[in-house]
Amino acid sequence: MSYVDEVIQSLEEKNPAQPEFLQAVKEVLESLRVVIEQNEEQYRKDALLERLTTPEKVFMFRVPWVDDQGQVQVNTGYRVQFNSAIGPYKGGLRLHPSVNLGIIKFLGFEQIFKNSLTGLPIGGGKGGSDFDPKGKSDREVMAFCQSFMTELCKYIGADTDVPAGDIGTGAREIGYMFGQYKRIKNLYEGVLTGKGLSYGGSLVRTQATGYGLLYLVEEMLKCNGHDMAGKTVCISGSGNVAIYAAEKAAEMGAKVVTMSDSTGWVYDAEGIDLDAVKEIKEVRRARLSEYVKVRPNAQYTEGRGVWAVKCDIALPCATQNELFIEDAKQLVENGCIAVAEGANMPTTLDATEYLQEHGVLFAPGKAANAGGVATSALEMSQNSERLSWTFEEVDAKLKDIMVNIFHNMDDAAKRYHADGNYVIGANIAGFEKVVDAMTAQGIV
Ligand code: NDP
Repeated sequence: MSYVDEVIQSLEEKNPAQPEFLQAVKEVLESLRVVIEQNEEQYRKDALLERLTTPEKVFMFRVPWVDDQGQVQVNTGYRVQFNSAIGPYKGGLRLHPSVNLGIIKFLGFEQIFKNSLTGLPIGGGKGGSDFDPKGKSDREVMAFCQSFMTELCKYIGADTDVPAGDIGTGAREIGYMFGQYKRIKNLYEGVLTGKGLSYGGSLVRTQATGYGLLYLVEEMLKCNGHDMAGKTVCISGSGNVAIYAAEKAAEMGAKVVTMSDSTGWVYDAEGIDLDAVKEIKEVRRARLSEYVKVRPNAQYTEGRGVWAVKCDIALPCATQNELFIEDAKQLVENGCIAVAEGANMPTTLDATEYLQEHGVLFAPGKAANAGGVATSALEMSQNSERLSWTFEEVDAKLKDIMVNIFHNMDDAAKRYHADGNYVIGANIAGFEKVVDAMTAQGIV
């Protein structure tokens, strides 16, 4: 049996209840097969893949807090410090009821390669909790965040592990967590990114993942003889990534016609009114169904359905496993030319393969949504220097990073005779640097 198959089989036996983690590992290892097979004996002897797929450290802890009725609530907190070969652990904190150890391990594993691809010195980690900020008062969110950080602060630090936002963790939550960290540790340091501008945050961090996604898509289209102007774009989600992806797509001359949330989706043939979406989702934290009150010509439909709309470019920006094989078939039938993942692993493995086999340009999340973590690393640099760069400076660096990521994955794919297969390219480019650093650092 090949080394890759041995490791996958062993992980399946050890982690039967972690389907998302297994899905992510399989996707990565399958695409690394060509590289691993060239050096199979040495890698097996060094247990390289076992070390790569086993987190360096995993923390799980109780998070008790008191709700507005005086009732004590208990959630579970997680931090997975997956790989620190190329820098301090870096990765977001997800607050969502679906969070469990398998989800955090999948996200932490992906983060290793994504962070490596940015070219910046950051290792891979991820964390979060099954707490749901939706429907909670500000006081309840603060009580949770303070309790969560009271435990988490023991394991993180500006040179050790620097968490950031993710689903459910926005500027409000980062602010409460930062305040509690500072209070307990008596340290004003860049321990979290995604901070507010008045206390060490970076300009462009809010927009970074969405803008970065479009910078990468623009470069991918350009290198394949297309451009953004005049294209019709379908986006799923209406959170941080989706909103700023839509903003940059419109700025580049494309028309975004759909957005969604976890209850339904809107279709606006005239182009999504982003001010309306921002008001509903960012300011009032309400449901997207309210969009049609502002734009009566648009349609709102409960449930899923975004990928059935005819488009040139599809950008899944909500969550994992939200674009299935039937959706991929529909997109191909409708003449879609490119799919780029704003979310982490939104496309199932069979859907990805279908899109690639049918000539659709496909940019995987670990490359396409790396703008967020890249700008977080720029925030870390500014914090260390005690400086703040201008919007234009950060935006220009972000654009350079995204263009470089595209070329790194494109070149890696070409080196292994897989031209245009950006899944293989991104995994190989991310893997090479991490393995080089792990090998140099010995058996740790
Ligand atoms: P937000 O919480 O800001 O937004 C998430 C959006 O997706 C919301 O519209 C939400 O709807 C919707 N959504 C969440 N879960 C589901 C679900 N199970 N089914 C359907 N819709 C769902 O998160 P972000 O925009 O920050 O993150 C989106 C994705 O991008 C995630 O996969 C995240 O890991 C990834 N990502 C984020 C980065 C960042 O910088 N923020 C960086 C890199 C990746 P509702 O409003 O109803 O909850």
